Amino acid sequence: MNVAVLNIQRFSVHDGPGIRTTVFLRGCNMRCRWCANPESIAPASIGGFGAWRDVEDLVVELKRDLAYFEDSGGGITLSGGEASLQFQALVQLLEALGREGLHTVLQTNGLMSREKLGTLAELVSHFHFDLKGMDAQRHRSNTGADNSLILENAAWLSASGHPVDFRIPLIPGFNDSPEALVALADFLDTIDAKVVEILPYHPLGEGKIDRLGIDFPRLRLSAMPEPVAILKAGTLRGKGRRMSVACREI
Ligand code: SF4
Repeated sequence: MNVAVLNIQRFSVHDGPGIRTTVFLRGCNMRCRWCANPESIAPASIGGFGAWRDVEDLVVELKRDLAYFEDSGGGITLSGGEASLQFQALVQLLEALGREGLHTVLQTNGLMSREKLGTLAELVSHFHFDLKGMDAQRHRSNTGADNSLILENAAWLSASGHPVDFRIPLIPGFNDSPEALVALADFLDTIDAKVVEILPYHPLGEGKIDRLGIDFPRLRLSAMPEPVAILKAGTLRGKGRRMSVACREI
């Protein structure tokens, strides 16, 4: 089976434990106005960026860095876009990586059926699960998607005991007000989230929009300074919760 791959990034150190190879898959079911990878969003069926890869060939390529994974406790991170959109290929890829004994991280926006999430939970070692905001209307207008299924899936995954880091992009004017942060903190408490990583807004995607000529809405905001992000992230702190701002523990 083939899988549409946007990009493969070797020696990643911010996409899970140890040294990792991150595979970015094509296609996304959301349209976040702050997206750092706007070139990944178009469906896999549309040509353009990336390439179709045979799953077995891809696994052979990914195993080249096995020694680094073993030495560092690393592995393979599957990202996007939203990797679960290529569900059958993703399952086949995870099964093949599992047969090789490789640790896997799946980075997901959480917008998928419970049945699919349940299947993936059987195959994935560790989830990075994005949470963007609690206000349903603002979520819809800024990401193009309803947040109800995402929140239900977040609660289910947390309750399942599966290793999961919840990752929150901190976006000026969208989810960084005191009210929005308190609502997120309440939800994190409710689902007993153990690990939360804050990803402060950076206008990375805007540069790509210019360079690659992609048709995508722009936020035209400046990068969020680290002290501001750390201050705001403090609102999300809960009892016994491990917190970091873009990989720096706080
Ligand atoms: S879910 Fe991720 S990849 Fe998809 S549009 Fe949002 S930020 Fe971009």
